[in-house]
Order: sequence, then C-alpha cells, then structure tokens
Amino acid sequence: MSKNVTIAGTTAGPGEKNHGSVHVPGLFADGRPYEVPFIIYNGVGDGPNLYIQIAQHPGETWGLEGVYNVLSSLDPKALNGVVTFSLPNTVGFRFATYFPPQITHDINRVGKGDPDGSLMERMVDAWWTNFVEGRADYVIDIHGVPPKTFVYYEAEGVSPGIAPEVAEASERMALLYSADFVQKQLEAYGGGSSFRGACVDHGIPAIVPEVSPQGASITERGLRNIMVDLRMIEGEIELPSVQYILNWTSDRKANSVATSVGGCLIPKVEIGDVVEEGDEVAVIYSPRTFEVLETLKAHRDGYVSTIRKYPVKSAGETVMSILEILDVVKNT
Ligand SMILES: [Zn+2]
Repeated sequence: MSKNVTIAGTTAGPGEKNHGSVHVPGLFADGRPYEVPFIIYNGVGDGPNLYIQIAQHPGETWGLEGVYNVLSSLDPKALNGVVTFSLPNTVGFRFATYFPPQITHDINRVGKGDPDGSLMERMVDAWWTNFVEGRADYVIDIHGVPPKTFVYYEAEGVSPGIAPEVAEASERMALLYSADFVQKQLEAYGGGSSFRGACVDHGIPAIVPEVSPQGASITERGLRNIMVDLRMIEGEIELPSVQYILNWTSDRKANSVATSVGGCLIPKVEIGDVVEEGDEVAVIYSPRTFEVLETLKAHRDGYVSTIRKYPVKSAGETVMSILEILDVVKNT
C-alpha cells in the first residue's frame, strides 16, 4: 500500500500530486530565503522513488519540454511509486546565468553539498536532504549541451563508493533514455564530485542526460522508458535500433581532432558516423585562395560525437571529437 509523501511540509496522498517549495532561510543578503520549487506525484501502487531535476546548470534547459510532456500528463492514479521533480537552482535559473556573483565555481562539483558550507554548498545540500537522502531510489539530473543528446553515467570504481549493481543500473537507465550514444565515465571528472557522483556513492543509480536543442522528444521517450522499465507506468519501451557506449575521458585532447593551420572548415563526416583511424574527416581551406590547406584525418577508430561546424578556425582549434567505442548495443 502506498503512503502519504511529505516534503518540506507539503503532502501528497496516494494517487495525488501536490507542489510546494523548500525554503532555506538566512542565505541571502536581502533576507529572502533560497526557494526550491518541487512537485510530488504519489502513485497508488508500490514502486520506486524517482527523483528528476533539471537546470542545476541554469542555461541547460533543452530537456524541459520533454519533462513537461511527461509530467504534465502523469496520472498518479496510474502510477506505482513516487516521482519527485524539482527546479533546484532557482538562483541561476531566473536569469539563465551559470555564475551569479556568489557562485564562484561549478555548482556540480560540490557533491551533495554542505549545510554549513558556502552558499553554493548550502543550496546543493537543500536538494540532497529534501529530495535524495533516504528518499530517492533513482536520480535523473538533466543537463544540456548542443549539438546532440547523449547520457553520462559512471562505471564501477570511479566514485569511491559505487557498487557494481549501482553502476549496472545506471548504465541501464542511461541506455533507456534512448539517445543514440551514451558516455561511460571511467575516471573522475576532476574538480570535485558531481551531484550524480554523490548519488552513486550512496548506492543510488543516477544519470546525467546532456540534452541538445533537438532533445525534447528523446527526453520524453527516455523518461517514459525508464518509468516503464521500473514498472512505475504502463507502456512500451522504444529505443533506437543501435546505441553506442563511448569512453568518456577527462583528457579532451585525446578525443579531439584539431586543425594545425588557420582557415575555414568543411566537415566530411556527420555526428554519429563511425570512422577508422586515417579516414578523411574534414578539410581546411584558405578563404583567400580557396586552396586546401590541410586534410584532417581521424586520429583513432571511433564515433564522431561532436563537430564544431562554425567554419572559421584558428590554428590549434578543435574541429570534432572522436570517442573510443566501448560497446555497440543492438536493440531488436
Ligand atoms: Zn551541465
């Protein structure tokens, strides 16, 4: 039997949804509290607790339309378990700025935050203590970068506490998000633990979808897929016929094809192409003479995950990323 769910004084009974706000008093100079809006969807049947947040990096809102499409029509009377949604970083969100003056570095590198720490750490602590700690069984922390949607997750052994089954469940969720490729993190980001890293360290499978401007439909399908797989809602799982598991590495240069000469770019491949070492992937030409100055070759076998298509390039500029393929998943 499902029970009442209460967060920061807001309660949703079985089969109900309700919305409220977490208020953390005393953080700002103007005397106003830090406020975090949230929605609770409390199902009628037993099931897991899924926590979804978006825009902890404030400009990364491309997935919001997909979240809206799923959650605005989610019926708690046809739900098993609980979905909690929040818009955690309201400080940055309202102005779509990463770094309001008091947020001095990446808010996604302070792990689960600290109730006695800096403003940023106190903000993250509010998300952790109200939505995750002792509550969430799965976490989806939606971010966004152009040009193509993919999903980050973490392999066993990267965060100190991640267990094999947590890494496995994270990979399953990452693939269910239904992007054409996922990036498996085999080493730490550096610069401190991510919020997702804190989750997996505490035994909670977690993913970071990086949603592109075209990623609303993938997000919609992905969230539904994950909820169907967790038996929270009825439905069919829909996946691309092929998905690539790529190796994420902190050494960006190891992934990059760069031009050695300034000029203008013509890519010869598309994002999603699988290339072999030595394949021609782009040319750089002179806009003064229209002579080809350089033919760029793939530096490894791999998957073209980004192309910086803006044509004007200086010497040494990255043109595209080619990531090592760890595995190819065929969905029949
Ligand atoms: Zn981000």
